[in-house]
Amino acid sequence: MDRDRILLTPGPLTTTLRTKLAMLKDWGSWDADFNALTAGVRHRLLDIVHGHDTHVVVPLQGSGTFSVEAAVATVVPPGDKGGHVLVLDNGAYCKRAARLTEMMGRRASVMAFGEDEPVSAAALDARLKAVGSITHVILIHCETGTGVENPLAEVADVCQKHGKGLIVDAMSSFGALPIDARTTRFDALVAASGKCLEGVPGMGFVFIRKAILDACAGNSQSLAMDLHDQHVYMGKTGQWRFTPPTHVVAALSEAITQYVEEGGQPARLARYADNCRTLVDGMTALGFKPFLRPEVQAPIIVTFHAPGHPAYDFKQFYQGAKARGFMLYPGKLTQVETFRVGCIGAIGRHEMRQAVEAVADTLREMGITSGAPAL
Ligand SMILES: *Cc1c(COP(=O)(O)O)cnc(C)c1O
Repeated sequence: MDRDRILLTPGPLTTTLRTKLAMLKDWGSWDADFNALTAGVRHRLLDIVHGHDTHVVVPLQGSGTFSVEAAVATVVPPGDKGGHVLVLDNGAYCKRAARLTEMMGRRASVMAFGEDEPVSAAALDARLKAVGSITHVILIHCETGTGVENPLAEVADVCQKHGKGLIVDAMSSFGALPIDARTTRFDALVAASGKCLEGVPGMGFVFIRKAILDACAGNSQSLAMDLHDQHVYMGKTGQWRFTPPTHVVAALSEAITQYVEEGGQPARLARYADNCRTLVDGMTALGFKPFLRPEVQAPIIVTFHAPGHPAYDFKQFYQGAKARGFMLYPGKLTQVETFRVGCIGAIGRHEMRQAVEAVADTLREMGITSGAPAL
């Protein structure tokens, strides 16, 4: 097959030809043209969250997790200076956030919720009343491990009421789910180039609330991860500290142009919601069962129970779908066997229908009569 396969994964994902073509140019990292490109990207990222009055946005090299680490390191004081983070945990990315927080010498407490339910703002309210030492809360907006959507606005209101900082990992939701900095208060919100903005992977970016920016100086124990330093340097020179991912920035700039042309966040959400509906309807007709209730499912990635049929084997299933042009994603749950299918990327209803067809064809080849899970 000489055509790229469709990536039904939550990043890297399928990009448009325009986005790919934007990478066929070499940029000098010190040059005014590239500085203007970076400034344009930062400006339009702030447009997306309506954050010009309240926030700055600081880009950082690396995958999304690098920016989550950087956000925690920059915003939360070290443990011996009182930094104490509460992580609202309903999945794998929450656990990763707790781990990196602890590894960087910040005190981390975890508040556990079921993996098939959103975290609870009311429970957070009670915990913040009871434990005075907590300084910051970490919320994963869409927990990509399952696909569940967490209540960002409610959690932000509770944090504001208690005077606590909020750090949001909005990696897999940014650009698709609504986020409004004018009405939702957060100290830091993290996303990346290669998710719902449909750029290529290689850089993250963190919105930091202007009111807390000065107090962030000196928090970071890492030079490369210090977003305060990155911001100050970029303000002075227009340049990134250290080699920027020039081609990734160029691709993101082109991807944002297409995002705006498509109609911005509402249009992106509508397309992904349609993808998700098409996928779930088609898979349900084959007997598959989604892991989540529809009310808590974000239209980003869907977790399905593995078929209960004895002939099912994920590797073989994956290879079958791949041979038909579609890349699925393994499950991330420890208790039940699942697999995941992404709804994001430069794809629409037709690709989702074809994906369901590829799954149906693969099941036939494997001798599996239904996608229904074991009882
Ligand atoms: C993709 C993602 C990340 C970042 O993962 P990387 O592999 O480092 O890019 C972090 N949090 C969530 C919720 C994600 O979906």
